[in-house]
Amino acid sequence: MYNNRISIIGTGYVGLVTGVCLADFGNSIISVDIDEAKIGKLKNGITPIYEPGLEEVLERNIKAGRISFTTDIKFAVENSEVIFIAVGTPPDEDGKADLSAVLSVAETIGTYMNGYKVIVNKSTVPIGTGRKVEAIIRDVLNKRGLDYDFDVVSNPEFLREGKAVQDFTHPDRVVVGTESEKARDIIKEIYRTLYLNETPFVFTNLETAEMIKYASNAFLATKISFINEISILCEKVGADVQKVAKAMGMDGRIGGKFLHPGPGYGGSCFPKDTKALVKIAEEHGLDLKIIKATIEANERQKLHMVEKIESHLRNLNGKKIGVLGLTFKPETDDVREAPSLTIIPELIKRGAIIRAFDPVGIPEATWRLKDYEKCIVYCTNEYDVMEGVDALVILTEWNQFRRLDLGKVKQLMKGTYFFDLRNIYEKEEVERVGLVHVGVGV
Ligand code: NAD
Repeated sequence: MYNNRISIIGTGYVGLVTGVCLADFGNSIISVDIDEAKIGKLKNGITPIYEPGLEEVLERNIKAGRISFTTDIKFAVENSEVIFIAVGTPPDEDGKADLSAVLSVAETIGTYMNGYKVIVNKSTVPIGTGRKVEAIIRDVLNKRGLDYDFDVVSNPEFLREGKAVQDFTHPDRVVVGTESEKARDIIKEIYRTLYLNETPFVFTNLETAEMIKYASNAFLATKISFINEISILCEKVGADVQKVAKAMGMDGRIGGKFLHPGPGYGGSCFPKDTKALVKIAEEHGLDLKIIKATIEANERQKLHMVEKIESHLRNLNGKKIGVLGLTFKPETDDVREAPSLTIIPELIKRGAIIRAFDPVGIPEATWRLKDYEKCIVYCTNEYDVMEGVDALVILTEWNQFRRLDLGKVKQLMKGTYFFDLRNIYEKEEVERVGLVHVGVGV
């Protein structure tokens, strides 16, 4: 059992889930953020993000006294031996990962260090960042005239939003990048619950762990872009991409996951991590052709959806279009880089008026789409969206959109086009009520 306190810097999707789940494993956690509003909510047991199951685990661990929240990073650093960095690494204008938050936390850790510490980086960072963190801390300590020992570990996170608690507590593997045996043993203790459950642990050096994260995300994004590209060809040649993907996935060498055609991948990871990896390679004089094609195919896929809608409706000028789903996937409130942020503006630029609904994504989508607010009506539920629309577009496969009363849909709509961009309906069942089903690659 690990007996010392652990700090987690950053309480976003990754930091909060890490803190809450490590507390549930029996560790004692101090969760830190610079965002006072977030910390205020968390102190009261309220999660600032929508993540199924998280609030329950949070409540249980607050009650047990295993997790506390603060904006005081000095207190956190001084009172813990292990410090996880889980702050954001968003893309800058060039697509490079913006490391300012990670590096500023490193500096703060150096400033308040009062003995041996293990600094564990959970944020997704370019290869070489762990060494940079090491150098910054050493530099600050030198300036302070101190010579404390410390270790930097890369422990990338692979959780999926919407399934974050399950993924964190039942990971396919835990990657630990460090050359220090002492740090490795401490990490094993922290993850003791998983270690005992025979979760595979992969021990590597810093650089390899950092690379594993980028390579994994780039590969998954490539799988999605691959099937999306095949879906466009399927539409042209009369093949059914659903059956193609299913049969491909039955091949053990390929696997069926991430072979679902749709309106393009989004979210806070795949778009930014693929672009960042291309930039990292460029800095080393290497052109990553496959990953660049993945990014390009994803952009084309989003526009292909708009063109598909336009070609069926002939002219979008003045057309009312209902949109179901704004988040990049179901079971999250995250709208970062969601296909909706490209597809809705494109439809509006071509003259359409939008009625939209999402079970939890409307607040975030409203500010992200504020330049288009005059042309978007946010509705109170899925059926409200359908009132008098010329076409309906399913952008996110929330469960409640999977079981629509199709007769009611037909009644409420003015037009008949039902764009099922997640292929969640059978063509026959939709067309039985007099609607025209348009899927992706079918
Ligand atoms: P996020 O934006 O949801 O959260 C980041 C948090 O860090 C925010 O609450 C912010 O206020 C806080 N923060 C920023 N600077 C700080 C500072 N100096 N001190 C304390 N707190 C600070 O980000 P996220 O989605 O949790 O992602 C975090 C990292 O994890 C990123 O590198 C991301 O690529 C990676 N990651 C994300 C996911 C995911 O599904 N979201 C999955 C795996 C890995």
